[in-house]
Amino acid sequence: MQKPYFSAEYYQISHEALDAALDTVPAYRPWRACDPGRHVPADERYAALPLLTKQDMRDHFPQGLVPGNRNVTAGLELGEIEYVQTNGTTSEKVTNLWNQSWWNASEAASWKLNAHTAHLDHSCREAQLASALSVGVLSRSDLPMQSRLLNGRLLFLNEKATALEWTDVHYARMAAELGQFKPEILEANPSLLARLCWWALDNRISLYSPRVILITYELPSAMHLQCIRRALRAPVVSSYGTTEAGYIFMQCEQGTFHQNTGFCRVDFMPLQDLHGGPALGRIAVTPFHNPWTALIRFDVGDLVRRGNAACPCGRREGWHLTAVEGRAADCTLSLTGRLVTTARVDDALSAVGGLRDYELVQQTPERYCLRIVAEGRTRAQIDACRQALQSVYGRAAGIEIDFCDDIEPAVSGKYRRTHARFPLDPEGLWT
Ligand SMILES: [Zn+2]
Repeated sequence: MQKPYFSAEYYQISHEALDAALDTVPAYRPWRACDPGRHVPADERYAALPLLTKQDMRDHFPQGLVPGNRNVTAGLELGEIEYVQTNGTTSEKVTNLWNQSWWNASEAASWKLNAHTAHLDHSCREAQLASALSVGVLSRSDLPMQSRLLNGRLLFLNEKATALEWTDVHYARMAAELGQFKPEILEANPSLLARLCWWALDNRISLYSPRVILITYELPSAMHLQCIRRALRAPVVSSYGTTEAGYIFMQCEQGTFHQNTGFCRVDFMPLQDLHGGPALGRIAVTPFHNPWTALIRFDVGDLVRRGNAACPCGRREGWHLTAVEGRAADCTLSLTGRLVTTARVDDALSAVGGLRDYELVQQTPERYCLRIVAEGRTRAQIDACRQALQSVYGRAAGIEIDFCDDIEPAVSGKYRRTHARFPLDPEGLWT
């Protein structure tokens, strides 16, 4: 596969970000010995370095990843930064030095990568629909709209940790507030937005359509995207980033994910051919221009699929992806030991009519358990799910399938639709 095009400026910033980290950031002192030298091309320098993990971030918090001898205590006092913690399991949680102006600039640069969002700026009205563990105001009691409205322009439609707490009252309130607030952008966790859309379709209620819907927070299921497109007329665009690294990829109007090259460097690391390489791989991200945090080769933990042909939209610079396929930690294995991403399972199950959600757990290398939420609960759905999964895992795969009323999200408030109950030996798989 051909390496993508990058501008001379991109390489220049890659060098500068690395030089600044090695020269001034305490956490990278031991990395200096790995650097082959400043005269060496940026790609070779980066490839020679280790990956930065969330554990490294925790070990060096708060001062260890700060560049240029800046002082965290002073930054907090001046209001330039605040502590923001990501949610999840112990191994997922990280506290970040949150710098709002850098975040906004990273977001605005990503908007330029899609014709439907290129006109946006931070003055337009925006509604957010996500777990309150991810964003907004968390509250057990219901909050009035004014208490969920920030600066008059950002409305958090939900104040609950999970959508399992929603009743008809909350669905009706969200539908009414969309119509009343009339946001230009609706940024949403796809699992939550799909629930609102199904409620609207089931109850024949029409929802106000914003100009554009931005899908983020977790890997969208194709069954959820289908439902969102049925209920809302706006273009649906996936944005991929992380709290730690900012906005990394943005889907263009042709559906390709383009790298946000003005704000991050991405190193693509293909998997072994047996497991989907060289098109499928991990990525290490180096954000640019963040004055308070220097992440170099941050392992975001997701698997992505490279595109081969040029995108018809005409954008040329940077990696472009046909898909983000889910977290490496959520992969399962086929009967022959091949890696199976969440997206692969999702594609197969999304072809089954009437499914609304699912959770696939690989109990042992030979046994898979699937729970499904489905309209109608028919025998044909069970048979179709079994066939779909056997096409992914192998004809002899032992697959147990049960209907259930609902699926619970993970402790982060986000959904984890596939995983194995045994270690996958990632070190052996990745290289
Ligand atoms: Zn494109």
